[in-house]
Amino acid sequence: MGVVNDLFGINVFNDEVMRNRLPKETYQALHRTIDNGRRLDAQVASVVASAMKDWAIEHGATHYTHWFQPLNSVTAEKHDAFITPAAGGKVINEFSGKELVRGEADASSLPSGGLRSTFEARGYTAWDPTSYAFIKEHTLCVPTAYCSYSGEALDKKTPLLRSMEALSRQAVRILKLFGRMDATRVMPSVGPEQEYFLVDRKLYDRRSDLIFAGRTLFGAPAPKGQELGDHFFGTIKPRVQAFMTELNEELWKVGVLAKTEHNETAPAQHEMAPIYSTVNVACDHNQLTMEIMKKVADRHGLYCLLNEKPFEGVNGSGKHNNWSLTTNTGYNLLEPGDSPHESAQFLLFLMSVIKAVDENQDMLRASVASAGNDLRLGGYEAPPAIISIFLGDELTEILEALENGMDYNGREKTEMAIGVHMLPKFPRDTTDRNRTSPFAFTGNKFEFRMLGSSASISTANVVLNTIVAESLRQFADELEDAENFQEALHDLIVRNIREHKRIIFNGNNYSPEWIEEAAARGLLKLDSTVDALPCYTAEKNVKLFAEHKVLNENELRSRRDIGLDAYAKMRGIEAKTMLMMARREILPAAVRYTGEMAEAGNRVRQFGPKLPHSAMDELLAKLCQGCERLNEGIDRLAEAMDRQPAGTEPIVCARYMHDEVMPRMKELREAADGLEILMDRKAWPFPTYDELLFNV
Ligand code: ADP
Ligand code: MG
Repeated sequence: MGVVNDLFGINVFNDEVMRNRLPKETYQALHRTIDNGRRLDAQVASVVASAMKDWAIEHGATHYTHWFQPLNSVTAEKHDAFITPAAGGKVINEFSGKELVRGEADASSLPSGGLRSTFEARGYTAWDPTSYAFIKEHTLCVPTAYCSYSGEALDKKTPLLRSMEALSRQAVRILKLFGRMDATRVMPSVGPEQEYFLVDRKLYDRRSDLIFAGRTLFGAPAPKGQELGDHFFGTIKPRVQAFMTELNEELWKVGVLAKTEHNETAPAQHEMAPIYSTVNVACDHNQLTMEIMKKVADRHGLYCLLNEKPFEGVNGSGKHNNWSLTTNTGYNLLEPGDSPHESAQFLLFLMSVIKAVDENQDMLRASVASAGNDLRLGGYEAPPAIISIFLGDELTEILEALENGMDYNGREKTEMAIGVHMLPKFPRDTTDRNRTSPFAFTGNKFEFRMLGSSASISTANVVLNTIVAESLRQFADELEDAENFQEALHDLIVRNIREHKRIIFNGNNYSPEWIEEAAARGLLKLDSTVDALPCYTAEKNVKLFAEHKVLNENELRSRRDIGLDAYAKMRGIEAKTMLMMARREILPAAVRYTGEMAEAGNRVRQFGPKLPHSAMDELLAKLCQGCERLNEGIDRLAEAMDRQPAGTEPIVCARYMHDEVMPRMKELREAADGLEILMDRKAWPFPTYDELLFNV
C-alpha cells in the first residue's frame, strides 16, 4: 500500500466506517436519508452519534463541534468536550443523538444581514448527513447547516442544499421525457481548482498591508513579472514541493481528493485541483482546503495568500468551478453521448445552461462579487466582468446548422432533425481551449472561471443550480404538454438557439473590441461589487429564487446587504492600513532618507571636486517632490475617510468607498511607489515586490 492508501480518509467517518460500526438497520436507515433525503428518526441518530463518538475518541478526539459556514465565507466552530461528570469525581464521554442532529449557536456577532434581530440572537445548526463527519485537531467536526429559529438560512450550506433539490426535481422531469425512468436524482458535480500565492513568512510579517488587508496596497513592480511565462507549469522548487507534499497528506487524511498541483502564471503563484465530487461535499472540502493551506504554510515558514489580487501587475487568483450534472445512476448529462437519443438529450441540457447564463448574467456576476475579486475581474489576466460562454467552434457550428435548418456541413439543405440523426462527433480534447472565457464548455462540463480564490464556492453554485433548474422547468413544462415530442423538442432547441446565441463568444475575451461588441449584443458589464450586488433583489430574481424555494426575499436582501457591507468594510480597512503605513513608515523613511542625501550632497560640495552637482540636486528635488506628493495623498485619503456617510444604507456606504475612497487610495499608492523607486533599498521600510515574489 502506498502513502495515499495509508492516509486517505483516516480521519473521516465515511461509508466504510459506518458500515463496519453501525448495526445493519441503522446503516440502511441512514443511507435512506443520505440518498433520498428522507427524515432521520431520533433512534437512528442516537445510535449513529454513539458510534461516531467511540470512533472519534479512538482516533484521539476529545471535543466535537458543529462545523458550519456563516455568511462571511469562512467556517465557524465552537468546540465542546465529550465529557460529562460521573460518580466518584470522574468523567465519562457522552455524545447524544440530539447533540449530533441539532445544536444551538448563540452567534450574535456573525453577520445575519438583518435576518436575526439582536433579541433573538440564537440560531441553530442542523447536521448534514450527506457530508461525512471528520476529525480535525482532536475535534470531531460535524458538517451542519445554520438557520435562524424562524427557519431562514444564515449560512452558505442551506441554500446550496436547497438549490440541489430544485435542480434535481426539474432535471428528473426532463429525463422522464426521454424515457430514463431509472434516474431518480440528479446532482451537480463540481471540481474547484484553487489558486494561491506563497510568500516567506518573515517578509509577510513586515508588511502591514498583507497582515491586515491580505494584499499589497503599495509596491512598485519588480523588474520581472510573468512576461516570460516561465513560472506556469515550471519546475516546483524544493521548499514549495515540501509544502505541497504535506498539504496533500493533510487533505487526504480528511478525505479531500487532492489530485493536481502545479505552478501558476504569476511568480509565487500555485494551484491545487481536487477530483470533482457532489457540489455540497466539494464546497465543504474547498473550505477545509483553504484552512489547511494556511496551516501547512505556517509550518514551512511560509504564508499562503488567498486574496484575489495580492500583487498589482501580475495575475490574481481565482477558483475555476468545473460543473456538470450527474444522475444517481452515474451518467454525466453534459457528456455528448454516442446515440441520436443521447445527442438530443445532451443538446437539451446544454441549451438549458446557455439559456440560464444568458438570462441571469446579473446573478452570476453578483455571485462572485467581492472587494478582492473586483480587482481581478477585468484585469488583463482574468475573465472580464462581462459574462459570455465559450462553446468551441464545432459545437457552435452545430448549433448554427440547427438554427438554419442545414446539415452540419452546411451543404445539403436537408433539415437536421434532433433525436433522429447522430450529432457529428466533435473533439472532446480540451487542451486547445479558450482560457480567456469566463464560462467555458470543456467537453463534458462547464468551467465557471470568475469565482474569487478566497470565497466559498457555495454562492456561485447556488445561482448556477437555480438558474439551470428554471430553464429545465420551462423546458419540461413545454415538452410535457407537447403532442409530438420529437417536433416540440426540435422547435424548442432551435428557438432557444436563436434567442440566446448572443451569449456565445469564442473569441478573445481580453480584447478591447470584445467590450464594444458585447455592448452591441446587449450583454451586461457590471464592473464592481457595487454595480452587481443590488440585482439580488431585482423583481425577476426574487421571483426566481422564491419559486424554486432556494432563497426568499429576506434571505436575498440579507445576502445583498452583507456583501455590500463587507465590501465597504474591506475598503475601509485597506484605506486605514494605507494611511498607517504612509504616515508611520513611508513618509518618515522618505524624509530621513532625503535628509541623509542632502547631508551627503553637502559633504560632496564641501570636500569633493569642483564639478557640477546636478545629479545630487535632481535626486533631492525628486525626493522632496515625492514627499510632498505623498503628504498630499495622505491628507486627501484621510479627508475622504472622514467624510464617510455614517449609519446609512449598505449600498450608500459601499458606493462611497468605491467612488470617493478608492481613487484616493490609488493616488496615495502612486506617490509611495514613486518614492520607492528613488530610494536606497535599505532605506525602504518594508520588503518590496522583487523580494516577496522571488524569494521562496
Ligand atoms: P484545467 O486546469 O486544465 O482546467 P484541472 O485538472 O486543473 O484542469 O482541473 C479540472 C477539474 O475539473 C478537476 O477538479 C476535475 O476533477 C474536474 N472535473 C473533471 N471532470 C468533471 C466533471 N464531469 N464534472 C465536474 N468536474 C469535473
Ligand atoms: Mg487547473
